[in-house]
Amino acid sequence: SKATGRNRLTVFEAEMLAGKRQRRLIERELRAAVYLNELELYYQPVANADGSIFALEALVRWRHPVRGIISPAEFIPVAEHSTLIDLVGEWVFKRACADITQFPGKRISINVSGEQLKRDEVVLMAQRVLLESGRMASQFVLEITETVATAATPEVLARIQCLKELGFRIALDDFGTGHCGFNYLKTLPINSIKIDRSYINRLANDEVAQVFVSALAQIGRIQDLTIVAEGIETAEEFKLARAAGCTRFQGYFIGRPMPRKELSGVLDLQNGS
Ligand code: C2E
Ligand code: CA
Ligand code: CA
Ligand code: CA
Repeated sequence: SKATGRNRLTVFEAEMLAGKRQRRLIERELRAAVYLNELELYYQPVANADGSIFALEALVRWRHPVRGIISPAEFIPVAEHSTLIDLVGEWVFKRACADITQFPGKRISINVSGEQLKRDEVVLMAQRVLLESGRMASQFVLEITETVATAATPEVLARIQCLKELGFRIALDDFGTGHCGFNYLKTLPINSIKIDRSYINRLANDEVAQVFVSALAQIGRIQDLTIVAEGIETAEEFKLARAAGCTRFQGYFIGRPMPRKELSGVLDLQNGS
């Protein structure tokens, strides 16, 4: 058993080493990718109850010359291991500031990493990019996950508050995956809550999910928070989320994330031009 123990340790160490080496490699490639313009920003519509498009969520992709399109779920965690996430975050915000002229009257939602929020730079970057692009903070929603918000230090909370005071809307993302009590919600500087898609998927056959979503929608009304249902994949889920009291809707049924040009076409159709 001593031998197996040692063997296991060796295998584990080897894996750690490979993981670390792999991460360094991706890190180096990703840094280059930012400068080589290999990142792309996709946009997914967020709709009102009548299906009209209210806003767009910016979702980053990496168009790797060899490996094709790489999901942010793969490279954002790597970027978060270093200040590389600041570089990616700045690229995303700059791109969104340039693109927003293509979406007149719509807000753009941006995902902000909890790692970015650990540094003052995030606030300075946001102010600088706004100034350089001539955009207004109120045109953007900054999405912060529930897990990040509940684990936030006083410094992180102060930065979120500061961003809100600059005029950014703040959304609590992936709600329901963390441990944010309804009471704690009141203390957070937020404008909207995005209910994680795992609850929306269960609306049709799970009473607990129905009660959870309805309760949140009621709290939203009382506390003047917009409640967004994420991951709407079917007409039934759209109907149930509306019935539960959600006010905004996002998911493949409403529209997939797509490149700016494709989305401009969809928006033109909606505007009847
Ligand atoms: P998220 O912020 O929760 O974004 C929603 C994710 O759900 C997106 O995945 C979107 O494509 C996917 N999705 C949307 N509708 C549906 C649906 O109806 N069904 C299903 N199954 N999925 C749906 P994506 O684009 O792969 O992004 C994954 C995560 O990567 C995001 O989750 C976000 O946490 C992170 N991410 C994406 N872009 C950025 C970024 O610019 N900065 C940072 N820090 N994180 C980002
Ligand atoms: Ca998000
Ligand atoms: Ca989400
Ligand atoms: Ca579903």
